[in-house]
Amino acid sequence: MRRISIFGATGSIGCSTLDLIRRRRSAFQVVALTGGQNIDKLAAQAREFQVELAVTADPARHNDLKAALAGSGIATAAGPEALIEAADRPADWIMSAIVGAAGLAPGLRALRHGTTLALANKESLVCAGPLLMAEARAHGARILPVDSEHSAVFQALVGEDMAAVERIVITASGGAFRDWPLERLAKATVAEASNHPNWDMGQRITIDSASMFNKALELIETHEFFDIAPEKIETVVHPESLIHALVGFRDGALMAHVGAPDMRHAIGYALNWPARRDLPVARLDLAQVGALTFRAPDPARYPALRLAHAVMAAGGLTGAAFNGAKERALDLFIAGRIGFLDMAAAVDGVLTRLAGDPALSAAPTLDNVLHVDQIARDEVARVTAA
Ligand code: NDP
Ligand code: MG
Repeated sequence: MRRISIFGATGSIGCSTLDLIRRRRSAFQVVALTGGQNIDKLAAQAREFQVELAVTADPARHNDLKAALAGSGIATAAGPEALIEAADRPADWIMSAIVGAAGLAPGLRALRHGTTLALANKESLVCAGPLLMAEARAHGARILPVDSEHSAVFQALVGEDMAAVERIVITASGGAFRDWPLERLAKATVAEASNHPNWDMGQRITIDSASMFNKALELIETHEFFDIAPEKIETVVHPESLIHALVGFRDGALMAHVGAPDMRHAIGYALNWPARRDLPVARLDLAQVGALTFRAPDPARYPALRLAHAVMAAGGLTGAAFNGAKERALDLFIAGRIGFLDMAAAVDGVLTRLAGDPALSAAPTLDNVLHVDQIARDEVARVTAA
């Protein structure tokens, strides 16, 4: 039996991971599950899978969690430190699916134990790519990508030599507003931005898809994970979301990964890696699909892509500043305090203010990354009216 823990179990990726585990219950023992505010769901999952430990990120909800698990024999804990300690429980495979920079510290701790880390939490790589990759190397741990584009690239690279890779092409659906007139975007509401045309995901990544901040994070994630130069990474808008990524080789070949937009494919690939097993994802009928279309992303519509390239060019801890500012700007948008287009303007403003700040050229330690994350969040208040 493989021992498995899931960080962010109550979210979209966490639930899809448990769905796959539920289908092969006898193969897995679920060790620890973590959640945030959704205590009822966390407790129900913990009871169903008879886990050893359930952790909520919020200390104020610990009593609720204890009450919900009373008499179950399942240990409980709460708070950011408890989340990190949950990664100390021996496990063969850990899913990192907390949303945001909060996923970084537990993921790093898991790597220290030499475990296999299935990484959905792209923010970890954006904030601290070199740190994460070095920690994995130092402890013989493996990171398997779960983001669909990165899983696609990873699969296209099996048996290939990175030296033969000329480019990586990441596809983007274009998000909720890809066909809106530009002048309407300023007035886009949270509800409108939370409605993805193709993928069913958590609210924050769905809004990030509408603004292309999700793709911006993924460009940086590609650069960090595959150690490929930024100028070799391209983004193409592909409204059908059936090709997840392509790898271009020096002989001109382009290897594309094609499949239904269902995260259980990428999660299942990481869960079963290096084997492939049956997965409950829809099989494409290509004659039904008919056509696949592509277009260049419009820079005026998606300033986040330009910012991502600026972040990669700047290097150092700029990724942590970018992500921290983006998270805070997204909080303000969700709270109705700034408009949709103000998010990119705020992140741009923060990066301009912090350019040349010595904090961004400090060594990539966890403390330094979290420090930059915090100053970037604080700066957002200075560049917005909120
Ligand atoms: P959700 O918002 O659905 O779930 C997030 C999870 O993290 C929940 O379990 C939530 O708990 C928990 N959480 C929230 N805030 C904190 C915190 N401060 N500390 C600890 N835990 C917290 O997100 P998704 O599942 O959509 O995304 C998870 C990660 O996977 C993100 O990094 C995202 O970018 C990435 N990803 C997601 C994809 C998708 O299809 N959803 C696709 C590719 C990548 P609770 O809900 O109980 O409050
Ligand atoms: Mg993705």
